[in-house]
Amino acid sequence: MAEFTLELNDDQKQVKEWLHGFAADVIRPAAAEWDEREETPWPVIQEAAKVGIYSLDFYAQQFFDPTGLGIPMAMEELFWGDAGIALSIVGTGLAAVGVLANGTEEQIGTWIPQMYGDADDVKVAAFCSSEPDAGSDVASMRTRAVYDEAKDEWVLNGTKTWATNGGIANVHVVVAVVDPDIGSKGHASFIVPPDTPGLSQGQKFKKHGIRASHTAEVVLEDVRVPGHCLLGGKEKLDERLARARERAKAGGERVKNVAMATFEASRPAVGAMAVGTARAAYEVALDYAKTRSQFGRPIIDNQGIAFQLADMRTRIDAARLLVWRASWMATTGKPFTSAEGSMSKLYASETARDVTAQAIQILGGNGFTREYPVERMHRDAAIYTIFEGTSEIQRLVIARTLSGMPIR
Ligand SMILES: Cc1cc2nc3c(=O)[nH]c(=O)nc-3n(C[C@H](O)[C@H](O)[C@H](O)COP(=O)(O)OP(=O)(O)OC[C@H]3O[C@@H](n4cnc5c(N)ncnc54)[C@H](O)[C@@H]3O)c2cc1C
Repeated sequence: MAEFTLELNDDQKQVKEWLHGFAADVIRPAAAEWDEREETPWPVIQEAAKVGIYSLDFYAQQFFDPTGLGIPMAMEELFWGDAGIALSIVGTGLAAVGVLANGTEEQIGTWIPQMYGDADDVKVAAFCSSEPDAGSDVASMRTRAVYDEAKDEWVLNGTKTWATNGGIANVHVVVAVVDPDIGSKGHASFIVPPDTPGLSQGQKFKKHGIRASHTAEVVLEDVRVPGHCLLGGKEKLDERLARARERAKAGGERVKNVAMATFEASRPAVGAMAVGTARAAYEVALDYAKTRSQFGRPIIDNQGIAFQLADMRTRIDAARLLVWRASWMATTGKPFTSAEGSMSKLYASETARDVTAQAIQILGGNGFTREYPVERMHRDAAIYTIFEGTSEIQRLVIARTLSGMPIR
């Protein structure tokens, strides 16, 4: 049994330093340009692929770090560089986790490499769960997948929305309804391979923040995928559906659905992204407060400013500890008896929102302009309380877990 420590080991320190270098030298200098362009920063993704940051190997190495700190540490550093660009680099990971969590070994080996491509020809992947009428309320999803037994093919129809990398992805992972009678328990995930007819991009959204990350609708019209594209395979699905139908008949206990399992696994990672953005804004504000003088002294000489910075840093460190705890629990198989994963995402995302707003205030007029990065960081931070479950949904999950009551 390892002794309790919050100190990173030598390998982790090295990786952290390497990522920080990439974030500082490659991501941060490109941030303002890609935010203005509102386009996927392909050259930066390619740079990341060249040095090995955009790859399954890197992701897997961090994912299997036995302390659980690999992924949160990587997210914090990359998002410290810039949230929009970093999401373009790690967005593929959400789809990859969907396959890792539910796919067979063969599916993992076949599809994940195609999600990333290689350094000379980088590709991205998309995870498509949300729909226009099914955001927080995943159970009201309408996209249908119907099995055509004669051809051993699944036929997908519906409209997905808010998909990161939707329409530009090489591989799309699509969650669809296979049995509409049992709510979210009747959902399954499918791989839609590259260039499958019937899948198209709907509107690309113009956004408030993380503008370098592509977000779009994905339209599925009679999209036919081979039977082996059902994640986990048909036998496993049939067993799962039979169990769920029996439970439903008995009016029984809730079971986790496929999409929620993916979201649960990624929540502390989103918290870590928020910590990265918050830390970036705090550092700019601290630096500015020490160098900006008014009334003949640096503004940090006023408690009104210094105490804000003290609170900002305290909240950031608290958020990181919650994220690390949840990631450590996930990796070491501890049960989330108090919804610790949701707690970490809730606290870190609201910390990023508040700290970036305080940073603007500390920079005064400059903070409000695009000459300084904190207004971008504040726009970017707004996403963390929305995606991967809004703050309200995190509170619902935490409150239900703590109370055992069906709080609405
Ligand atoms: C930039 C971006 C990228 C995204 N990427 C992806 C992606 O890659 N894949 C994907 O599948 N999805 C993605 N999403 C979707 C995201 O997960 C959803 O936006 C989110 O789950 C919220 O759903 P909604 O937008 O429909 O809001 P709604 O569910 O309509 O919520 C609206 C408001 O009502 C509140 N609310 C809803 N229900 C309750 C309740 N029961 N109690 C209290 N308050 C409630 C919410 O908290 C929110 O404040 C992305 C979204 C954005 C903006």
